[in-house]
Amino acid sequence: MIFDVLTLFPEMIENHCKYSILKRAIESGVVEVNTVNPRDYTLDKHKKVDDTPYGGGAGMVLMAQPYVDAYESVKKQANSITVMLSPQGEPMNEKLVLDLAKYDQIIMLCGHYEGFDERIRDIIKPREVSLGDFVLTGGELPALCLIDAVSRKIEGTLGKIESAHDDSFADGLLEYPQYTKPREYRGLRVPDVLLNGNHKEINEYRQAERIKRTKERRPDLLN
Ligand code: SAM
Repeated sequence: MIFDVLTLFPEMIENHCKYSILKRAIESGVVEVNTVNPRDYTLDKHKKVDDTPYGGGAGMVLMAQPYVDAYESVKKQANSITVMLSPQGEPMNEKLVLDLAKYDQIIMLCGHYEGFDERIRDIIKPREVSLGDFVLTGGELPALCLIDAVSRKIEGTLGKIESAHDDSFADGLLEYPQYTKPREYRGLRVPDVLLNGNHKEINEYRQAERIKRTKERRPDLLN
């Protein structure tokens, strides 16, 4: 999977990729993350990438030319999709992540300040994706969330892909409670069923816990 991220703050993306599972996935070639800075493409002699909004109002709007030129510089794979990170987009969820994981390349547009000149949308026609109903200062954090979540779906990123099969949302339910050593901590004991080695009973217990948890916390998922 190739991620090409258009961002005015490439270090935010690059730094995150230096850690943990994503770092290993990049080193093993399962995932590739590239950044492109629209500032390197601006034709403005002062390297400007934003300007005041027509019609007035607070803040600065990202200019179309640097973003469109930066976008057009990215080498497109045959099976590619372009995503714009935006609070106005469709909400990120498991279904969207699985859908995006089918592509070989995801090109991402991260905004900043007051957001994009509308003509960037008109020309590039991206799929707009939101991290949630709140406004962040930039698209880098949502882009990283998407890179992280999609990478987990790519064979080779996780040590064992099965470890994702029981995760919350994988089949619509939340995950069961997990325990590790010691057996007792501050008077709290690991449920006996997890210690008896009977895998049928363990699976039944876990499935019951998943349903109970989902009912309590996210009844909407059961519908
Ligand atoms: N003025 C814009 C609006 O009200 O729709 C918000 C601009 S926001 C301050 C700057 C950039 O942060 C956006 O262009 C987008 O890339 C990113 N951003 C902010 N909130 C986001 C969210 N909930 N999901 C995805 N991206 C977001």
